[in-house]
Amino acid sequence: MSVVTRFAPSPTGFLHVGNLRTALFNFLIARKAGGEFILRLDDTDPERSTQEFADGIQEDLEWLGLTWDRIEKQSNRFDRYAAAADELREKGRFYEAWETPTELDLKRKKQLNMHLPPVYDRAALALSDDEKADLRAERGQGVWRFKLDQERIEWHDGILGDLSIDAASVSDPVLIRADGQVLYTIASVVDDTDMGVTHVVRGSDHVTNTATQIQIMEALGKTAPAFAHHSLLTGPQGEALSKRLGTLALRDLREAGVEPMALLSHMARIGSSQPIELAASVDDLAEGFDLNHFGSAPTKFDVEDLWPLTASVLHETPFEDVADEVAALGVPADIAPAFWDVARANIGKRSETADWWALFRDGATPLVDDEDKAFIAEAFAMLPDLPYDDTTWGNWTSAVKEATGRKGKNLFMPLRKAVTGREKGPEMAGVMRLMQVKPSL
Ligand code: GLU
Repeated sequence: MSVVTRFAPSPTGFLHVGNLRTALFNFLIARKAGGEFILRLDDTDPERSTQEFADGIQEDLEWLGLTWDRIEKQSNRFDRYAAAADELREKGRFYEAWETPTELDLKRKKQLNMHLPPVYDRAALALSDDEKADLRAERGQGVWRFKLDQERIEWHDGILGDLSIDAASVSDPVLIRADGQVLYTIASVVDDTDMGVTHVVRGSDHVTNTATQIQIMEALGKTAPAFAHHSLLTGPQGEALSKRLGTLALRDLREAGVEPMALLSHMARIGSSQPIELAASVDDLAEGFDLNHFGSAPTKFDVEDLWPLTASVLHETPFEDVADEVAALGVPADIAPAFWDVARANIGKRSETADWWALFRDGATPLVDDEDKAFIAEAFAMLPDLPYDDTTWGNWTSAVKEATGRKGKNLFMPLRKAVTGREKGPEMAGVMRLMQVKPSL
């Protein structure tokens, strides 16, 4: 049986790093097995789902190279969900209930006072046909609940190991709201079984859903896929990330200059026993990916960790990959490869390439310490005229050394700072060769 996975975001917001973990795991499992990866938009909520978010999700995944083999929208499949609901009704596993949220709340509070688990008491199951007709006349359509079999629901979780949940400790889930809106719990079951999904990886906040979904699948005569639940992300100090996830949207990270492979390499390894290292491609990531390396402990995520990896991506990026970008900056073709060689070793993010080009094109504002003022004036007066080449720096500094008697760090450091306006940077012979203006005070 070939592997089929899916990533099923609701288009009610942009993707953040937490969603990415789910998307990536499912993508890598399918890729490693040569299987199919489905992007499923869980858009059964017409009020909160928007086309803008649906497009945004696809853009973000494409940016990362997490491309899907097939895309599905739940809003195209309402007839399938209605058919499943009918089947559950016929099988006596679906019942209508009319409690208002306030009534349910009151029931819960009473149960908690009596130290009982706050599980729906199934009062609606005891209603006679007349009582139902009265409630319907008085309150309109009820919600539809799935009647759980009150037994232990067991599965082997791909990350958490053997799990078992007592169905009696879970309320019969509402699958259709009173306004007729089909809820994710049943839509997901129908999709996963219709689409032949073999592996479902999602966050551990879905463990209870999994238990009820396994029973719904069984009630519909279907086989449940393999499930795995990854731990949730926390901030660097272990603090809940849920509130900050809004600031960790993938599009913001892209905007900030994070490189896709840096983000993917990091997300594929945090929370696992394997070291975090930069992968060359998603195929390399897929090859080394194994759910067995992940544990149940919450996984710390620190956005700062993405920057060293981003710099590493850039250091290893060959000129061919950036030729267009470099040309767009206005770098002449004859020096573009040499320029990129110097720039890539000295940038932390792509946007800094432009700063280096500005330096070579326009020259820097010299950084000169008070005690070096006379020295720099003398040295700059000895600069040859353009164009410069590989020998310019060596010849110039030899001449300055000869004339001033300075040597070593005392000679080179003030010259570096004066020419580049920075304390640190690339090897100076390479810098001089790229200068398009003669450094001046
Ligand atoms: N739309 C659901 C969510 O985003 C999907 C969960 C699942 O993977 O089944 O939480």
